[in-house]
Amino acid sequence: MSKMRVYELAKTYEKSNSEIIDILTKHGVSVKSHMSSIDNDAIKLVENELDNKKQVKDVDVIEAINTYEKIKVPKGASVSDVATAAGEKSGNAVKHLMAAGLMIPATAEADEKILEILGKGFEKHFVFLTKEEIADSKKKVTLPKVKDVKKVTVSKPLKKTKETKKPIGKKTGKSQSRPPIVTVMGHVDHGKTSLLDYIRETRVTDKEAGGITQHIGAAKVSYNGNAIVFLDTPGHEAFTLMRARGAQVTDIVILVVAADDGLMPQTIEAINHVKAAEVPIVVAINKIDKPDSQPDRVRQQLSDYGLVPEEWGGETIMVDVSAKTGANVDKLLEMVLLVAEMQEIKADYNAKPAGTVIEANLDKGKGPVATVIVQQGTLRKGDIINTKTAWGKIRAMLDDSGNLIKEATPSTPVEILGLINVPMPGEIFSTLSSEREARDIMSQYDFERREIDINKTKRLTLEELYEKMQTKEVPQLNLVLKADVQGSIEAFHASLMKMCTESVSINIVHEGVGRISESDVMLASASNAVIIGFNVRPDSNAKKIAESDGVQIRFYQVIYDMLDDVKAAMEGMLEPELREHTLGSAEIRDIFRVPKIGNIAGCRVTEGLIRRNAKVRLIRDGVVFWNGDLSSLKHFKDDVREIKSGNECGLSFEKFQDFRVGDVIEAYEILKKKRTLD
Ligand code: GDP
Repeated sequence: MSKMRVYELAKTYEKSNSEIIDILTKHGVSVKSHMSSIDNDAIKLVENELDNKKQVKDVDVIEAINTYEKIKVPKGASVSDVATAAGEKSGNAVKHLMAAGLMIPATAEADEKILEILGKGFEKHFVFLTKEEIADSKKKVTLPKVKDVKKVTVSKPLKKTKETKKPIGKKTGKSQSRPPIVTVMGHVDHGKTSLLDYIRETRVTDKEAGGITQHIGAAKVSYNGNAIVFLDTPGHEAFTLMRARGAQVTDIVILVVAADDGLMPQTIEAINHVKAAEVPIVVAINKIDKPDSQPDRVRQQLSDYGLVPEEWGGETIMVDVSAKTGANVDKLLEMVLLVAEMQEIKADYNAKPAGTVIEANLDKGKGPVATVIVQQGTLRKGDIINTKTAWGKIRAMLDDSGNLIKEATPSTPVEILGLINVPMPGEIFSTLSSEREARDIMSQYDFERREIDINKTKRLTLEELYEKMQTKEVPQLNLVLKADVQGSIEAFHASLMKMCTESVSINIVHEGVGRISESDVMLASASNAVIIGFNVRPDSNAKKIAESDGVQIRFYQVIYDMLDDVKAAMEGMLEPELREHTLGSAEIRDIFRVPKIGNIAGCRVTEGLIRRNAKVRLIRDGVVFWNGDLSSLKHFKDDVREIKSGNECGLSFEKFQDFRVGDVIEAYEILKKKRTLD
């Protein structure tokens, strides 16, 4: 590897472009933007820095886990089962989860992330029983009973295994390029519909059958022989609703801002929704044909929200356009394709077909009709598909111009006829081998729905969160702020930002004036944020969704009350501070060989005391020779809890027997101190 572009390196490390640029700048390498290419030396600098950081982090985690008691729980155990296994109340478990920004009922099934949070909270090391262990004990996985829970003591550092989950349509096996899927967002009347109409009229691929009439909520257009798929303006509610259901359909967002009007509340809301989804933005500064248009003012305003135009040294591509005259619309499409190329938008055309429902309804004549977008594999007429709530055999498939088609490749939007019932937008579909399999799966889903009720949607986003947390170094409390006046928002923002520390930070996903809306709740749900309302209330719909999605809304009238609560939540997210405390030392005077047990070190305690559950290190000729745990502490023949200075004792270690007369044994314990932010 001799040269690489900044964004390529960023992608390899799952970092943002700006993080990479910051590292380079720190080392005196100047780069203009994420498109700049850097040489091998610069790549090495970044690699060194990131690899070092990662190592330090892994070691910390292992040390912390190593000091906790290990408790095994069966897969399928609920939050409350996990708490019981640790001898704790389930209410405390829910509190720990809330402190970590997760609203999860005690009855919900625990996943890896939940085990991690509860482990930190209860200072235990929870792990799932492995398949072999379950087979050994011949116990059913589906019975998360406390008696299934096994306790063992940790003796060896555990390696953290990283789970890798890939969203559909991204970097699969034999992947090939697929057209980018674009959503247009922005404030009302800024020209979203006009822009989409202009693009469709001038660039639609097939004009024969349907002319320019669009049949479904998505259109495939073509520019210079490259296809781009536009989803019908869904507004940010729909965008976030999809994400809350676990679907990520959009590859690129075009943010439309009218040059005569500038940034408006919905523009800002859209920016926050898109940022939370980590989808790249291309800005279309629209209506530049108008005499009172001020595109540079829009650039300035966008910069204040972290979208700095490329021409000003930032990373965001901005194009001045007019949806009325069509000026620069081609350039906008070209930029979308450029961003698509950088994102390496790919899919496996031969994989098992899967994708997302973008709209669905019940048609009087045709029955259930769903528009889906294929994200992986090739969907064919006759395939049997299912989602969480619907299934059926594809009787007919129509493209965006209303033509009957036999197959649909990745990124193709199609209308599907033949479903038995109507799915919900945002649901993911996949294909099944037979109608019988479909019926079995659907009845299983029905059963699960009755059992777990609403938690399915929540869990999907948790998995996303888990994945995100894996790559993040600092835990982060996500907040959505709503207040009655702008002044309060500004005051909160400033006070909250002051509270961020190196070890825990606050991320304000969105803030705004006015009642708490459905869209706020969906954004909070999709980003696992807590909503803070200051002198405002949610409307009834928002309240309903918050309840069903388990989004926490907290109301305040006094700023200090709010800050106190946020601080407590942040402190709950801090890793405890670990400190070593020396207990005492002993000298080996004699070594006894005990049949079946092995060597026992006969010692005299020379200082302090030795405790049965202490950690020990063996020092030979002034050098630490071994470090680990005691396995027994005896006074003559009796097991004892501790032995004080001046007494004799017999010691054995876990996994170490090579004692020598004259070795010194030092006993210590690790004290965990809850960290506070002061
Ligand atoms: P949407 O609410 O964002 O979908 O906005 P529309 O596309 O409905 O546009 C709102 C109004 O702005 C309509 O009256 C359009 O004709 C007008 N409009 C949209 N784009 C332009 C443009 O580039 N120039 C001018 N002069 N008017 C535009």
